Amino acid sequence: MALWAVYGEEFLGSLGTSICGSYDTVMTNSKFEEIGRVLREQQRFAILSHVRPDGDALGSQLALALSLNGLGKTVRVWNEEGMLEKYSFVPGANLLSKPPPEPEDVDVAVALDTAIQNRLGTTLPAIRSAKIWINIDHHPSNPGYGDIVYIDPTSPATGQIIFELIKSQNLPLTREIAENLYVAISTDTGSFQYPNTTAHTFEIAAELVRAGVDVGRVSQQLYENFPRRRSELLRELLATMRFEAGGRVASFSLSLNLARQLGVLPEDNEGLIDHLRAIRGVIVAVFFEELPDGKVRVSMRSKSEDVDVRTICQKFGGGGHILAAGARVRGTLPEVRAKILEAICHVIGCDP
Ligand code: 5GP
Ligand code: MN
Repeated sequence: MALWAVYGEEFLGSLGTSICGSYDTVMTNSKFEEIGRVLREQQRFAILSHVRPDGDALGSQLALALSLNGLGKTVRVWNEEGMLEKYSFVPGANLLSKPPPEPEDVDVAVALDTAIQNRLGTTLPAIRSAKIWINIDHHPSNPGYGDIVYIDPTSPATGQIIFELIKSQNLPLTREIAENLYVAISTDTGSFQYPNTTAHTFEIAAELVRAGVDVGRVSQQLYENFPRRRSELLRELLATMRFEAGGRVASFSLSLNLARQLGVLPEDNEGLIDHLRAIRGVIVAVFFEELPDGKVRVSMRSKSEDVDVRTICQKFGGGGHILAAGARVRGTLPEVRAKILEAICHVIGCDP
C-alpha cells in the first residue's frame, strides 16, 4: 500500500501559525502525539459520528478507519444510519455500517464531528466498554467529553483535523484516504466557499489532489448525481418559501406528509437550504422539517458573522457553528416556526 512518507518538521512548525488559532502550538502537537500514540499502541477501534451524518462525518470516519486499517488495526465504523446512498461511491464505503444489536468491547472509541455525545445516537450503547474515548471535532459548542479531546473551532471541517493528525503522526495516507478527506472538506466548506475556508484549507486540498484525488469525478459524484426526487422535493419546498424582516430572513418547510408522499430520505435534504442562502438580501435561512417524533428539525444558516445562529439554536437545545446551526424543537410546524422566527427577529431586530 502506498503510504505517505515523513512529513516532518516543516509541517509541525506551520501548525502553530496556520491552523491553531488560539491553540498553543506545543499543546496542539502534543495532543496529536498523544492521539497518535494511542492509535499505534491500541488494537481494537470503533470510529463513530453523529446522527444524520453529512459528508464531513462519513468522510472523516472512513479516512481515519482506512488509515488505522493500514496499521493493521481492527476497526469498527458505525453510524446510526449506516452508509448513505449518496456517499456510497467513496472508497471503503462498505466498512461503514449501522451499530450491531449486541454491544462490543473496544480499546478505543473515537467520536468525530459530534458536538455533544448524545448525537452519537444508537452507536453510543453499541460500545459496551472502551478503555479510551477520543473526541475530535470542530464545533465550538463541543463541551469536550472524552479522555483525549481535540477541538479546533477554526477548522472548517473535522476532515481537515484528521488530515493534520494523519500527516503530523505519519499515519497511512493513500488515495482512498485522501478521497474521503476531500469529500469531508469539500462538503463542509460548501465546495470551498464558506468564510472559514482558509489558505491552509486549499493547501490541504492541493495535497489531497497530489495524493490522487480525481477532483472532477468526486465533484460530479457529490454535486451532480442527485436522485430526481431531491429536485422534486426542492420544487415543493420552494412553493412554501416565505420571507420575513424585509427579506432578510427566508424559510421553507417540509411536512411529514409531503416527505412521505415524495418518498424522500433524510439525506435528500442536505444542501437544499443553500437555495435560500443564495438569495440576495437574505441574512438568515431556515429550513423546518417535521419529524415523526413530535419534533421539528430546524436547520439554520447565516451570511453574517454578526448574526450568530448557533446562539439562537442553543436557546432551543441545539448547537453548531456561528454560520450553520440546528436544533430539534418539540411542537408542530407552525408552533416551532413562530418561536424560531421570533428568536431570529430578536437578534436581527424586526417584527416576526
Ligand atoms: P445542519 O443544518 O446541516 O443539519 O447542521 C448544521 C450544523 O448544526 C452542524 O454543524 C450540526 O452539527 C449542527 N446541528 C444541527 N442540528 C443540531 C442539533 O439538533 N443539535 C446540535 N447540538 N447541533 C446541531
Ligand atoms: Mn463537520
